[in-house]
Amino acid sequence: MSAPDAVVVGSGPNGLAAAVTLAQRGLSVTVLEARDTIGGGTRTEELTVPGVLHDVCSAIHPFGVGSPFLSSLPLTEHGLVWRWPEVDVAHPLDDGTAGVLRGSVEETAAGLGADADRWRGVFGPLVERYDALADEALGPIVHVPSHPVMLARFGLRAGLPAAVLARRFRTEPARALFGGCAAHVSRPLDRPLTSAVGAMLIVAGHRHGWPVAEGGSRAITDALASLLRSLGGTIETGVEVTAMAELPPSRVRLFDTTPTAFAEIAGLEPPRWRYGCSAYKLDLAVEGGVPWTAEAARRAGTVHLGGTFAEIARAEAEVARGRMPERPYVLVGQQYLADPTRSAGDVHPVWAYAHVPHGYAGDATDAVLAQLERFAPGVRERIVATHVTDPAGFAAYNANYVGGDIAAGATTVRQLVARPRLTDPYATAVPGAYLCSASTPPGPGVHGMCGHRAALRALDDLSR
Ligand SMILES: Cc1cc2nc3c(=O)[nH]c(=O)nc-3n(C[C@H](O)[C@H](O)[C@H](O)COP(=O)(O)OP(=O)(O)OC[C@H]3O[C@@H](n4cnc5c(N)ncnc54)[C@H](O)[C@@H]3O)c2cc1C
Repeated sequence: MSAPDAVVVGSGPNGLAAAVTLAQRGLSVTVLEARDTIGGGTRTEELTVPGVLHDVCSAIHPFGVGSPFLSSLPLTEHGLVWRWPEVDVAHPLDDGTAGVLRGSVEETAAGLGADADRWRGVFGPLVERYDALADEALGPIVHVPSHPVMLARFGLRAGLPAAVLARRFRTEPARALFGGCAAHVSRPLDRPLTSAVGAMLIVAGHRHGWPVAEGGSRAITDALASLLRSLGGTIETGVEVTAMAELPPSRVRLFDTTPTAFAEIAGLEPPRWRYGCSAYKLDLAVEGGVPWTAEAARRAGTVHLGGTFAEIARAEAEVARGRMPERPYVLVGQQYLADPTRSAGDVHPVWAYAHVPHGYAGDATDAVLAQLERFAPGVRERIVATHVTDPAGFAAYNANYVGGDIAAGATTVRQLVARPRLTDPYATAVPGAYLCSASTPPGPGVHGMCGHRAALRALDDLSR
């Protein structure tokens, strides 16, 4: 077989998005994947009970369905079907009420009582221009904007610490709903730029919803792989790349790896790159589903646990200080509500993970279950099987999750702005080699934009 034009190391959504972008331009592409199956953070497995399908990592995809690149591809023809839950997000509180994110800004505002106008005022203007916003925001922060006014409007909100933007709301359901979305950033909520991820998630939700992939998240990368093969690309699994010399000769090489792993493979000095907090995950098989007190949570694809905004902010601050909070922030996925194919009879997969300190070596199972029990009394009796993945388990599962950091690098201001470099972020010190993972802009999430933009950068060099 002749040498390919391009080799991509790693078959996560970004590796495959890079490979598809290159193959679309007529390059021959080979993807090399360390594990026996493709998909990186999008795999789906029967982790507990036969027939019950658990998303090992990613579950909910507001950035996937609205990704400028993924939505440009004929992925439906390759088996990808998005399914929407009735309620996007519920954020239950101790008094049995909940902040609820529904399809549109209007529907959500209508459920937020005294904060209706304020919710509309903060997020409404961005929803109308979401597609242009996604084009701008799902890329390097440092760039010449095509929509400067809209980007400035987003920046006025996104640049704020989440704790400051939350003060715009007067009622706890609205504050907590925003806080639960903002906490996806995995940093203390009083730091600059911590509103950005939450604001994008909310606006993406109001534009496209928070859907799941039918059959499990693996359907996203299965569809990308199928499209890649239809364009002539090949994928080899069970090939862990540890040195440049192991790669076949090619015109360009793209790495769906962290900058530290790339430096090791290329024989370079370790870069200045920090890893952030870790994930501690329970995959539960639950008979009859979770008996949430808040009615909206029974219909929600995603449920954020942690109580009030202030409580979540405290938990996230403790995690950043390296201390395990008694009541951690927990994200819960009930993908089966939108996609019943994942359940076996009345036994349903429930996905729940907590933010814990980087590399946390303790047992957080009870802390996660206690948060579930707090808002759904009686849930423990319904759990028929549990699969635990702790930070060490995540690190062993995927080389990109160093110490259990599932974001492939801390989301500090420095590492959001320079991810991993201020300018030309996809290029490396090695000519013809590019980084294309979530350690590059726009960062974590299943949107393929890191891979797509890295591939465009490589094509730019090839055209010179
Ligand atoms: C618990 C959890 C929950 C998440 N929830 C969501 C969610 O709901 N929605 C969402 O959008 N995102 C979510 N994410 C994040 C999302 O999964 C990642 O941001 C995304 O998968 C990153 O894609 P990637 O292609 O950059 O890297 P990855 O998906 O991590 O893929 C990297 C691939 O490269 C391979 N690889 C690495 N090094 C080598 C090597 N040296 N040689 C060969 N192969 C190598 C790895 O085996 C892996 O398959 C979640 C992640 C986790 C872990």
